Amino acid sequence: MFDVLIIGAGPAGMTAAIYAARGNLKVGIIEQGAPGGAMVNTSIIENYPGFKKIDGASLSMEMFEQINDLGVEYFGYSVIDIEKVNDIFAVAVEGSEEKLLAKALIVATGTKNKILDIPGEETYRGKGISWCAICDGSFYKNKNVAVVGGGNSALEEALYLADIASKVYIIHRRDEFRGAEILVSKLKTRTNVEFVLNAIPLEFCGTEHLEKIKLQNKLTAEVFYVAVEGCFEYVGQQPANQAITKLGIIDERGYVIVDKNFATSTKGLFACGDIVAKEIRQIATAVNDGAIAALNVIKYCKE
Ligand code: NAP
Repeated sequence: MFDVLIIGAGPAGMTAAIYAARGNLKVGIIEQGAPGGAMVNTSIIENYPGFKKIDGASLSMEMFEQINDLGVEYFGYSVIDIEKVNDIFAVAVEGSEEKLLAKALIVATGTKNKILDIPGEETYRGKGISWCAICDGSFYKNKNVAVVGGGNSALEEALYLADIASKVYIIHRRDEFRGAEILVSKLKTRTNVEFVLNAIPLEFCGTEHLEKIKLQNKLTAEVFYVAVEGCFEYVGQQPANQAITKLGIIDERGYVIVDKNFATSTKGLFACGDIVAKEIRQIATAVNDGAIAALNVIKYCKE
């Protein structure tokens, strides 16, 4: 039996693991993908203190090594069910008959990519359409690609792709960006980046592989095409809450409601990071949440 089980090994979950393990708790962490969560697919991080510039995979590995050194048990599983019986949490995972048990639970499952949900998206998924520039960008060396979205993810990954592709179209539905001005300024200095603004994606078109995107100008209603072999969608995130929907802790948008201690309304059940209902989602804020959640779990386990 664990003192605490953490679901999700992104920056929030791994920080919680560091604090809980250093607080002398027996800690397990369950992650269905690679350690790092969304961070692992981020090309370059320039706003996490201590690292002027680091790629997401390297920062993920730094955190992962730290939890390993502290003796945190790592489970590469997908959580399928969570139950609380007599003050003990029982976590059922895919591929194992045995449930993992713990006195306290921290949900740090983060978010997952939204999709555009337009015709052709499923047809060209993996045949031109991607949600990960760091994974698939190299396929488009000296080719034309598009990035859809105007948030920090779209802008950062467009910068990364501008070093690989011959041309990067940034397709955004407004003429102002949600992402940081510093990223927009950097992109404006790149000669192979073109902004396609007030443009709504209507359809992905091609034969075997993606060839072009059908767009409509929001102001003029003009329909036009952008010819690209690759399209990277960064149109936001949605809560990764599949495993926790029946626990009665999520709001109408699907995010977990917590108090200032990152405790939910269920005793012993905490949540931290991007899955929490809040305004700002950054690696630095995920780390903050994880530390506070774990320190309160330590108090809870000692009660
Ligand atoms: P985001 O900030 O929610 O931005 C999503 C973008 O996609 C918006 O520009 C939005 O347009 C656009 N969009 C949404 N639905 C669309 C649709 N159906 N069709 C066309 N465009 C659509 O998402 P994100 O960039 O993935 O970032 C998620 C969170 O992580 C944010 O809090 C962000 O700040 C954070 N993040 C931070 C960093 C960093 O600080 N280095 C890096 C990455 C992510 P509108 O603007 O018109 O709504």
